[in-house]
Amino acid sequence: MNPPAPGDTSLKDRVILITGAGAGIGRATAELLAAEGARLMLADIDPAAAEYAAETLRATGAEARACAMDVTRDAQVRDAVAATLDAYGRLDGAFNNAGIEEENDKVAEVDEVLFDRVMAINVKGVWLCMKHQTAAMAAHGGSIVNTASVAGLVGAPRRAAYAGSKHAVVGMTKSVAAEYARQNIRVNTVCPGIIRTAMMERAIEQAARAGYASEEKQRQFHAAMHPLGRVGEASEVAQAVRWLLSDASSFVTGHQLAVDGGLTAL
Ligand code: NAD
Repeated sequence: MNPPAPGDTSLKDRVILITGAGAGIGRATAELLAAEGARLMLADIDPAAAEYAAETLRATGAEARACAMDVTRDAQVRDAVAATLDAYGRLDGAFNNAGIEEENDKVAEVDEVLFDRVMAINVKGVWLCMKHQTAAMAAHGGSIVNTASVAGLVGAPRRAAYAGSKHAVVGMTKSVAAEYARQNIRVNTVCPGIIRTAMMERAIEQAARAGYASEEKQRQFHAAMHPLGRVGEASEVAQAVRWLLSDASSFVTGHQLAVDGGLTAL
């Protein structure tokens, strides 16, 4: 298999599908890729959020379409990949980013319904995405980036199901990377530390309501967890995803890229 042409690392005209593109890290990544000329399919369980994100990007001259997609539904994932092929004729990259983090208790207190929900979205969702995306990329290769977390690399107290789901994303990523390497499909994860998004805000409010710590105390603690002394921004994760999707990372596959301000260095 030949390496890509040296220096050809732009995402211009690359067709990329993003899940969970209506908010947070997914939306920030869509903005970065659109600015570089990528052609995007923005998928989200919230169709209005996906459409709004696409509309906003089109207003800047970018090529972006939206589709409603629940990552836990095989037919909806299959249809989103098909819609991307219909719209643009190919699929070069995918950012499987949709995920939830809803638990906030020790394992004895967590309901099995919540465990199943976390696993369905964070694990089955990524698995279904890779299943349909690898088939669409098999003829020409591509790059898949899955959002894991620092909770995919180390433990996360009061979030055992979430940490289990993100460790599963890491395991699936390594396995699929090995399965499809000879077809030039690279598969990697980004593992963010705490990133300032709606998800982070919901977690802080929930923990404060449950009486674990005040919002202010949590914000101080979150900043102090990262050796860089602050939480991350969605745009900083987007930069790492951009690199993994592009040929700048052409010899990188099965890798877990921590974007965590040094959190897992200690
Ligand atoms: P967010 O809640 O701000 O955005 C998530 C998006 O995913 C939303 O638009 C939501 O509608 C969509 N979504 C939820 N369930 C879906 C489903 N079943 N099908 C399709 N779309 C669905 O979250 P975020 O902070 O941007 O997180 C994105 C990813 O990053 C998640 O996988 C999360 O676990 C991971 N992550 C976040 C942080 C953080 O601190 N924010 C840290 C590490 C990892």
